[in-house]
Amino acid sequence: MNIKSSSSHKNQEPESGVLYIVGTPIGNLNDISPRALNILKNVSLIACEDTRQTKKIMSKYEFSNKLTSFNKNNSHNKTSRLIDELNSEKSVAIVSDAGMPSICDPGEELIKNATSKGIKVICIPGPCAATTALVSSGFPSSKFTFEGFLPRKKYEREKILFEIGKSDKTIILYESPHRLKKLLIELREIFGGDREVKVSRELTKKFEQHIGENINEVIEYFQGRDVLGEITIVIKGVKKNKNSEFNQFELKKELNELVEAGLSLSQASKYLAKKNNISKSLIYNMY
Ligand code: SAM
Repeated sequence: MNIKSSSSHKNQEPESGVLYIVGTPIGNLNDISPRALNILKNVSLIACEDTRQTKKIMSKYEFSNKLTSFNKNNSHNKTSRLIDELNSEKSVAIVSDAGMPSICDPGEELIKNATSKGIKVICIPGPCAATTALVSSGFPSSKFTFEGFLPRKKYEREKILFEIGKSDKTIILYESPHRLKKLLIELREIFGGDREVKVSRELTKKFEQHIGENINEVIEYFQGRDVLGEITIVIKGVKKNKNSEFNQFELKKELNELVEAGLSLSQASKYLAKKNNISKSLIYNMY
């Protein structure tokens, strides 16, 4: 690809003292804009998560530039050095290994620091796995909740899932392939097996796949199969009705407390059903 001839911004040099946030492909190296390439080619310095990944782009598009590593282990120390570069009128681009920097990737702290110091920040948008999976899912996509990677601790995970699970918004999660099966089991426990879901695998790559339609079916699909490649999970929101308006997490806690205090499950469910104006069986089944 000829970068110069294909870009309508072919003569636009990066501005000095500007931090450019540059989106890069999430798999398919063709998914990079001429504007992004122009900036990467012409900035004073590229701060990249892994120099090997950025070199792949430079090699495909036949250019080179000065690289410095900027990842979760060194970003704290490197931030002030990059701010110094920007203050000395250098232009700096930040890229991650894939997709948008700062979305579950390094960048947030540097961008926050730069904006707070009055440094100009310009984003050259590019692919993001979350929005790519969302729009591919066919689920409502104008309002959604993006949770990224859930915390590792069971209590914290459950708390988030209970909270977002009752929303009518589509939910997007990132997960590593070797933890997907465990997550699906948790999702079934909290959302029920009938909840509509799409597991998007290897987006933009040769073996891109979208596995659905509900949690039970996806669990069944992966039984006896290794989960390979990169995974984004999209879960359809609930249809709002009377029974989904309450806080399931708090309710489950209260139910446990009542049973521990000596009430039978039936008595406790009846009491909470009346108190919250919801069906007794729904509460009963939460136990
Ligand atoms: N900054 C990236 C973005 O804008 O999407 C996300 C980086 S995060 C460290 C990596 C996670 O994104 C993966 O574990 C996976 O959940 C998701 N992901 C990245 N590329 C993907 C792809 N090609 N297909 C499916 N999911 C992908």
